[in-house]
Amino acid sequence: MTPDSAASPKPPAPTSRGDALTLPRRVERLVAGQPTSDGAGVKLDRVLTQSLQRRLDPFLMLDAFHSDNPDDYLAGFPDHPHRGFETVTFMIEGRMRHRDSAGNEGLIENGGVQWMTAGSGVIHSELPEQQDGLMEGFQLWLNLPSADKMRPPWYRDFTAADLPGFQTDAGVRVVVIAGRSHGIDGAVLRAGTEPLYLDLEMPAGSRFTQSLPASRNAFVYVYRGSLEIEGTTIPAGRMAILANAADADGVAIRATEDARALLIAGEPLREPIVQYGPFVMNTTDQIRQAVADFQAGRLA
Ligand code: MN
Repeated sequence: MTPDSAASPKPPAPTSRGDALTLPRRVERLVAGQPTSDGAGVKLDRVLTQSLQRRLDPFLMLDAFHSDNPDDYLAGFPDHPHRGFETVTFMIEGRMRHRDSAGNEGLIENGGVQWMTAGSGVIHSELPEQQDGLMEGFQLWLNLPSADKMRPPWYRDFTAADLPGFQTDAGVRVVVIAGRSHGIDGAVLRAGTEPLYLDLEMPAGSRFTQSLPASRNAFVYVYRGSLEIEGTTIPAGRMAILANAADADGVAIRATEDARALLIAGEPLREPIVQYGPFVMNTTDQIRQAVADFQAGRLA
């Protein structure tokens, strides 16, 4: 991996007419999140599950959480380890405190993002800092190439105001969490997998286009309203996996009602993926080593 870069806050960008596309991608498949419980009992929908890791390489997981019932989130995620990948937490509404064994601490809230590279290993906790009210957001896991899995941990958090963004002529508001959209560099840029992570707020009837190389695996997750991509309607709570046709050059999205959605894409690593809970490596020997290192206290 090239050195991490984190852009400084930018002034509002000029509006954009969008990327001109010759052939937009179609929807290959719609996926519903699977209700599950993780951490000390946090209820969430696992949208990108282990069975889709190969198809959506370099992404390993997407969890969506959305509840105004404190019983669903108060327990949080007490101390637990990670090795071999990155976690990206995007909080739509709510407050979550992060602390890790590398000495980083931060509060993520309302529109903020936390980007943590576990690398060789961290132990961290992710705990709600609210007693009631709505908690809504996402956690995405981004794989690291084998050469970077044992790099030192890294951490940044961004408030909503820190995150670059722009508005299109059609009134679509775009937050560029990672990658580059319509000439705007996101908060985090990564060589190699070149992840693109956009949050889109689209008024009913508006259209948004994004150019994307055909090799990039890409998906859209709708969390408010509904969207349409090349004739396929995507309701809230569904992920649309976008087909990788060799001659397709991007994605064109239309809001069939006021909608909010994530558009996520990345260049696949095409390396073996071996996951054991919070460790994602390339071989079972490396997983054994991760477990041994954790048990011996070498991740703290
Ligand atoms: Mn974690």
